[in-house]
Amino acid sequence: MNLGKYSFGIGDRFNHEGIAQLSAIMEANKNGINITPVWNKSNREHDIVNSEPEGTRKEADTAVKESGWEGDYFVDADHINLENVNRFIEHSDFFTLDIAEYIGKESSAEDIKNFKKSCEIFGKSIDIEGINDSVLIDEELLDSVAVKYLKAIKQAGKIYRHIEETKGKGNFITEISMDEVEKAQTPLDLFFILKMIANERIPAQTLAPKFTGRFNKGVDYKGDINQFAKEFEQDLLVIDQAVNNFDLPKDLKLSVHSGSDKFSIYPVMAELLKKYNKGIHIKTAGTTWLEEVIGLAISGDEGLAMAKEIYIRSLSHKKELCAPYLDVIDIDESQLPAPEKIINWNGDKFASTLRHIPDHPDYNPNFRQLIHVAYKVAAEMGDAYIHLIEKHSNVIGECVKENILKRHLSRLFKF
Ligand SMILES: [Zn+2]
Repeated sequence: MNLGKYSFGIGDRFNHEGIAQLSAIMEANKNGINITPVWNKSNREHDIVNSEPEGTRKEADTAVKESGWEGDYFVDADHINLENVNRFIEHSDFFTLDIAEYIGKESSAEDIKNFKKSCEIFGKSIDIEGINDSVLIDEELLDSVAVKYLKAIKQAGKIYRHIEETKGKGNFITEISMDEVEKAQTPLDLFFILKMIANERIPAQTLAPKFTGRFNKGVDYKGDINQFAKEFEQDLLVIDQAVNNFDLPKDLKLSVHSGSDKFSIYPVMAELLKKYNKGIHIKTAGTTWLEEVIGLAISGDEGLAMAKEIYIRSLSHKKELCAPYLDVIDIDESQLPAPEKIINWNGDKFASTLRHIPDHPDYNPNFRQLIHVAYKVAAEMGDAYIHLIEKHSNVIGECVKENILKRHLSRLFKF
């Protein structure tokens, strides 16, 4: 199974926008950019909206069939671990093994000894592509990387083999994710992580490190763009070197868990991918849900009233809604408009406050982030919500397509 050079992860909380999402990717294909669509949904999302992985599979299959898509596509069990993977095994063919919680956990003396032994091939020092100075390989360095990552990669091996037992070798894509942690992994860390992955015989095809800076949900990148560019470039080179020297799949590529909408680093990534002729997997968060709310707001009185109700309810449940996302949102509460204020807004005003057009005078990233995490509110509205998004599926579908095509794909892949 092959992801292709470019793949793009799309999330859809309520499984209604698969066709619109795919239409954006098909449009990119018409422009000569072949992108493999991947529908991703995490265990956390399923729990919050009370959905099951089977629904994501159905959505993807239906969208593909109805749109006449003939290329590959995948359904990603996003951020899973040994405790929750079983619910996904039958329905997914892409698994993102989340090992963040094992980073920094202690390994057995034997595992550490074996890892160190496997590094004897490097000799006393090694030149790593993209890292300026030769790296001295000593006990101290090997101990420090083993302490940080060995247990985590061993755990990835356990999860991988558990999935392989049921699905069979080569029948699914394996991604390893370490992005949901506080500290970024350096390119040197990445080199040894890849060595551990090869030792563990995990045929990982994508790897999602934590990069420097903040990747908040649904809003732009916050951090040092030059530092990000440097890390991203070094990571591309490190992966190259690892693939050429370790026993890893030749198509292994970086996965960026973007949290969506990282517009300011899209051109940086585009340029470096072009420079080295490399592929990428970009995973976005479920911002399609925000397009549903935007579409409702501009669909007429009934839809606008519901969009306002979603916001007002999310304001009063702010704490609970934000709790699972505290590491990946930054909401300035003083910038959240009061209910009395928004009640008088028309649809355009509501939509332009929510829509991510950074230089639009109405755009409010605080409003946007709160609604982003408020999909539980819509889930609780149940049929009333589903009924309205179905009724206004044309308007919403246009918003979903435009968002993915114009604000993401065309910026990332430059067409
Ligand atoms: Zn992630």
